[in-house]
Amino acid sequence: MPLSSLLDCETRLVHGGRDPSSHAGMVNTPAFRGSTIVASSLDEWESRKLPGNPYASYGRFGTPTTRALETALADLEGGFRSIVFPSGLAACTHSLLALLRPGDHVLMTDSVYGPTRAFATTVLRRFGVETEFFDPGAGAAIRELIRPNTRVVYVESPGSATFEVQDIPAIAREAHRVDAFVVMDNTWASPLFFKPFEHGVDISVQAATKYIVGHSDALLGAATANERAWPLLQQVAHDFGQTAGPDDLYLALRGLRTLSVRLNRHWENGVMLAEALARHPMVAQVLHPALPSDAGHAIWRRDFTGASGLFAIALQPVGREGLRAFFDGLELFGIGLSWGGYESLALPMDAPTRSVKPWRHAGPLVRIHAGLESCKDLIEDMSAALDRMQCLV
Ligand SMILES: *Cc1c(COP(=O)(O)O)cnc(C)c1O
Repeated sequence: MPLSSLLDCETRLVHGGRDPSSHAGMVNTPAFRGSTIVASSLDEWESRKLPGNPYASYGRFGTPTTRALETALADLEGGFRSIVFPSGLAACTHSLLALLRPGDHVLMTDSVYGPTRAFATTVLRRFGVETEFFDPGAGAAIRELIRPNTRVVYVESPGSATFEVQDIPAIAREAHRVDAFVVMDNTWASPLFFKPFEHGVDISVQAATKYIVGHSDALLGAATANERAWPLLQQVAHDFGQTAGPDDLYLALRGLRTLSVRLNRHWENGVMLAEALARHPMVAQVLHPALPSDAGHAIWRRDFTGASGLFAIALQPVGREGLRAFFDGLELFGIGLSWGGYESLALPMDAPTRSVKPWRHAGPLVRIHAGLESCKDLIEDMSAALDRMQCLV
């Protein structure tokens, strides 16, 4: 049921994609399990298959649980329609597949999520699509790279691992001059802190695994399109048999209800932790766009309404023993992939793969996810880790 456009985002998170009167008054949309969906007359069966009928003819095309999440996400992102995928990466790759043909040229940010980069340089290349990486700081200067056959400009802001903020409106303006589509990975900010369609994006991708699910217990992706891109996106998802399971959808809907309270706390903890770490002599640089010293801060302030809890620190050059001293005594930070759950994480990163500008730090890069714990405890745990490392140099 569409919500009034006058409602604030926090209200939409609580009420979007819910209709208790359709489910015996139950507050939450149930996890519908189903492959076959039966009709009781020929007319009903045929009407099921008409375009625009929200009730699908087969479970693979979605259940009321699927539609509830897709409706809520499309509304939050400010797009036309959303479609879910079994992982965030599947949402990234199918958004590209939806738009590309052999002979097309893709411009992709050099700071893109690693597996998306790998998909472009292996699978897309094999199918005759050329991907060129661009400086995340390009902004309107991307004009010089756009060709008549540029079909997609793929952005991610801030970028994975290195957190450069991109000037999305300027990039979108240039892309649209040649009718290219702008695809954005909007996972870091979530639809709460960045409104992609107000900034010129055509398809916005969420790794719902992260903040939307929010509890590290499900993998899920979603892509939201404007009216121009939607038919292509929906078609490719159907052609490739993409669908998502009922429990994961249910967990994402449940996560959505608390997205605002969680993200505000992740934001606050992340900034306080980043500021504390910036003062430690073992930290060469903090990569966090909400810090005034960050190169992307001005654009972040202009375009975003908040920050998530994910950022990175570049450490002073230390050997393997130093890095082990840092990680091995951490009590509150788990060493693990993914992020966006309630618990804090620290991850040793390889030097980021770059085509345009080489990564310039000599020391190791550590990605940090500030969870929902007490910020004082997080600062103490991580300061102790840096102290342990300092003792060894
Ligand atoms: C984690 C992540 C993905 C992929 O999500 P999965 O659900 O793990 O497949 C895509 N983009 C970004 C920015 C991510 O951090």
